[in-house]
Amino acid sequence: MLDAYLLEIFDLLHATYGPRHWWPAETPFEVCVGAILTQNTNWGNVEKAIGNLKGSGILSPEALRDVPADRLAETIRPAGYFNVKSVRLKDFVGYLWERHGGSLERMFAGEWRELREELLGVRGIGPETADSILLYAGDKPTFVVDAYTRRLFAALGVVDRETGYEEVRSLFMSNLPSDVRLFNEYHALIVEHGKHHCRKRPRCAGCGLHLFCRANAAERPA
Ligand code: SF4
Repeated sequence: MLDAYLLEIFDLLHATYGPRHWWPAETPFEVCVGAILTQNTNWGNVEKAIGNLKGSGILSPEALRDVPADRLAETIRPAGYFNVKSVRLKDFVGYLWERHGGSLERMFAGEWRELREELLGVRGIGPETADSILLYAGDKPTFVVDAYTRRLFAALGVVDRETGYEEVRSLFMSNLPSDVRLFNEYHALIVEHGKHHCRKRPRCAGCGLHLFCRANAAERPA
């Protein structure tokens, strides 16, 4: 059964890597900003950009609303695509102020599925970003799907590489208990495994999931 299988994979990953304590942020707002900045870049670059925002004293809904877009872009330059991401941050905080008075507490107070639809309506926020915000900043039971998820579970024969975001997400959500802690940890473990082993060019030697893997034999460990 898929539910037992998904839990078995979780247990194996957890036994291998231990708790990941993801998302590394001091506040829910920092999680939201990080979720936007991490689009199309690696986490190390996001950390530098967040460090710059903190150092400049503009990592708050008020300050991000008021800072000029060009200064913001310069501050987040290490995250890449900084002009686009500056606009995306501005759009997000603009939405936050307009709909929720600048308060994340108010934003997360309502029905989370409705909030998900609302977030998806904000320019520059796609499903992965919306789900990251909901799960990691708002403690809402939604599953985050990313390239690591698709790659690993395609190798395991659970999905196709081309399977759409919502289909992969609902596969996890309908076969796992609706548990924020589980969803939080599972996504973080998938990312960890994706960094160590199930990369674009997999490093299959030492992969703890190789007995489950259905990927091309050429990609499998000896
Ligand atoms: S054996 Fe290789 S392709 Fe299969 S899950 Fe592990 S790293 Fe990925």
